[in-house]
This record gives sequence, structure tokens and C-alpha cells, in this order.
Amino acid sequence: MGRVRAPLAPPQVKVRAWSTADACVGISAAPAGEINREKGNGGSRVRCYGYDETGRQVIEAEAAVIREVVQRVLDGESMRSTVADLRKREITTSAGRPWTQQSLSRLLRNPRLAGLKTYLGEVVGQGEWKPILDESTHGKLLEILDDPSRKQPAATNVRKYLLSGGFLECGFPVEGDGDEVRRCGKSLYTQPSNSGKRGYVCRSGSPSYGCGRIRIAAASLEDEVATRALARLASPKVRARLEAAVGSATLTDEHIARALEAIDERLAEAGQAYAKREISLVTLKAIEDEARQERRSLQETLAQAARLQSLPATTPEGLAAWWVDAPLERRRELLALVLDRIIVKPATQPGKTQLDAERLEFVWK
Ligand SMILES: [Zn+2]
Repeated sequence: MGRVRAPLAPPQVKVRAWSTADACVGISAAPAGEINREKGNGGSRVRCYGYDETGRQVIEAEAAVIREVVQRVLDGESMRSTVADLRKREITTSAGRPWTQQSLSRLLRNPRLAGLKTYLGEVVGQGEWKPILDESTHGKLLEILDDPSRKQPAATNVRKYLLSGGFLECGFPVEGDGDEVRRCGKSLYTQPSNSGKRGYVCRSGSPSYGCGRIRIAAASLEDEVATRALARLASPKVRARLEAAVGSATLTDEHIARALEAIDERLAEAGQAYAKREISLVTLKAIEDEARQERRSLQETLAQAARLQSLPATTPEGLAAWWVDAPLERRRELLALVLDRIIVKPATQPGKTQLDAERLEFVWK
């Protein structure tokens, strides 16, 4: 993956230190060519959110967003929920990307917002532009952002559950374009609860920024999924189909390695073409998406072949007996052999403790 990203953020480009040239959100995502041009005289530059390309004129609509966000953070709202709200309102960075906690924090820390000029990370005086925030407000903001008690605990004790990591998809209906109803579509996350009841939830905060409206109890769901998956695996017809899908790909390690290399090369070329302004950001993203999808499907085929080879049993009894004592990771592998994902829809009977199978839409492989 490092090779994929390389064209977008070359290591020799410092993006962290503040200077009047690189103090703007969007820079870190810009290709080398763009940054080089910006450091030289003239040419286009990635503008700072809140200011136009010259860096002198305030864009009032964006300044209003900045002031609103600052007020909310000063009032004690978390960065996570502030970012989730900006995303929901489809407010983007100056580079047109959805806000993240990192990019928002970078913007809010920028002394430029208080009308201050910096050199090599140090404030060196007043800038020639209109401040969006007054200095004392910006000072208070920095105090809050630097407060260690506000730091989110690192996600080190996140327990892995049978269905975490993409098996479950949020099926909460959200409004689409016109009459069309879309689903939230985000992966559900595990949520260890204080009462000892494990669950899966749609998270409205980082990193998924989902709707936050779906929750389902883990234990009964896992039982149901295991039962259905094992039944499918015990079917000779299903196994034959899986084997055919893997077999048709003519897999050798060399073949896979070469295919992956070709994808990497294509990505590097696209990155260079973008840096030279030969293609647009939209085109670059389309090429990246396609390459990523191809890579994923190659890796998935490889993984499926390995899973099929290590299938522990082929009878319903044999599989069930194996399942009881198998380690979690092996169970997940077995599940992945047949299960693509499950779409979890909202509960129709609130408070019901048993599993409501109506909520589940299985997508099998
Ligand atoms: Zn959701």
C-alpha cells in the first residue's frame, strides 16, 4: 500500500511545519508537482480553507463554517462529533475531500486563521490578510486542542468478534437522490458493553462515519450466522461452485505476483500523470479505485483457494463438531468461504430480545 500512496505524499515534502506556504489544509494530499509549484513563485496553490487562492481574501461561507466549528469545540463538543456533522452536511475541505479529525485539527491549529504569519513553525508577526478568528479565541482553541485529557484513548483493546471487520453492513435507510432510498452501507463495529452484552453497532464517528442508528446483539446473531453458514458448507453443490470459481482463475504465485506488480505500476504512472497535470484528480481517483478493486479481487481469490484447501470437514456433523473448538480466526476464515456480508436492517419490534431474522439480509458468495 505504501507504494500506492507514494505519488501523493512524497517523504521529502514536509507537511507538518507551519509556514505561510504550506499552512493550508489539502496540501498533504497534494501531489509533489503541486507542492513544488506552490513553493516557487506564482502558479496555482492549494488554498487554505476560509481564504481564496491568493490567501488574502476571506471566503465568507467557509469562514462561517470555521467560526461555527470553533464555537462548538470551545463549548466542549468532541472533534469526532464535529467532523461527523460536517460530513453529514457534505461540507468538504478546500481540496474537495471529506473532513477528517486530522485535517480539521490541522486547520484549526493554523495561526493564519488568527491573522498571524509564521515562519518555520513560529509566529513571526501579523499577516496581510483578514483574520477569521481573533487571537484570544484562537489561543483558547489551541489550549483545548492540546489538552491531553481530550485525547481519545487508542483503540488497543478492541476485541475481535466473529462478525467484525466487514461481515456486517448497516442497512439503515438514508435519503438518497430524489425518491431513491439508499442504505447507510457502513461496516458495523463491535461494541463491548458494560452490562456484559456484546453487540455490533453502526458508528457515527471515526473511522466509519456511519449513521449511528443500528445496533444488534452479538450472541444470538453469531449463532444464527454459524448455523446457516455451516449448512451451506455441508452442501456438495455449494462446495462444487466455490471450487469452480477458484479453479477458473489459474493461480500460480508467479501469476499473482506479476498481476499485483502491474497494478502497482499503473498506479505509479497515474500518480505521475496527475502531478504533471495530465489527468484530473477525478481521473486519478477512478484509476486508483479500479486498481484497488482488482487487487482486492485477486487477493480474495487467493484467500478463497487457501480456505477451500483447509476445509476441516464436509459433513454437517463434522463441521459442527469442528466449529465448537476452533479458534476465532479459523472460524472467521470458514465463514468467509461462503459469506460475503449480511445487511442488518432496523429493528421492527423495539425491545425484542430474541434475534429477529427479518432484520437480516444474507449475501452469500
Ligand atoms: Zn449506519
